[in-house]
Amino acid sequence: MNILMLGAPGSGKGSQAELIENDYGLLQISTGELLRKAVSEKSAEGIRADVYISKGELVPDELVLKLLTERLNDPDCNKGVILDGFPRNVFQAELLDGILEKYRKKIDIVFNIESPFEILKERLLARRMCAKCGKGYNMISNPPKSVYCECGGEIIRRSDDNEATIKNRLDVYLISTKPLINYYEKKEVLVNIDGNRKIPEIYQDVKVTIKKKGY
Ligand code: AMP
Repeated sequence: MNILMLGAPGSGKGSQAELIENDYGLLQISTGELLRKAVSEKSAEGIRADVYISKGELVPDELVLKLLTERLNDPDCNKGVILDGFPRNVFQAELLDGILEKYRKKIDIVFNIESPFEILKERLLARRMCAKCGKGYNMISNPPKSVYCECGGEIIRRSDDNEATIKNRLDVYLISTKPLINYYEKKEVLVNIDGNRKIPEIYQDVKVTIKKKGY
């Protein structure tokens, strides 16, 4: 089974993908994570990507695709993947169709997680993460017990979770990513999920859908 998570920044795609990964043994692949890793390693791709990420713009398609295909070639992807943050525009979706066809694979479910933008802005401003293990926190709904994560890593704020960049990321979502709802609706794999609820409640719907689809 392969799953795709759609939704604006802060919609909770990553949190749901993490839960699915644990319960169904699929592998979560977040292009945002792959890019942040490249940035922290100061690779040529990372240095190039950083300029776009810090402005809240999409990183050029060919750069993201390179990182993604490298990852998809790893044998641990054979058990099925949860794509989180890719595709971000119709061109990327078409490229993905081509890649999947080559591997004789398909996307079985596209979860589209929706919440009002005002809520998303609040969530993104309150969002924190562990610099070591990547665990997500939220200063309002899920605050860390101290300035350190349970794993000992430092809890930080993502550099693109600031007001100006958040505004740009939401605009980019509306222009480039939202048309994917229609793209996957036509392929009859789209499932809309109300994201304006607590993480476990949303996950109940996700699990019910996966079961209904026979997985
Ligand atoms: P995310 O962690 O998904 O919120 O992504 C953080 C940032 O990485 C985005 O604002 C983009 O700059 C970049 N990014 C992540 N995925 C993609 C993608 N599929 N295409 C282009 N840029 C991306």
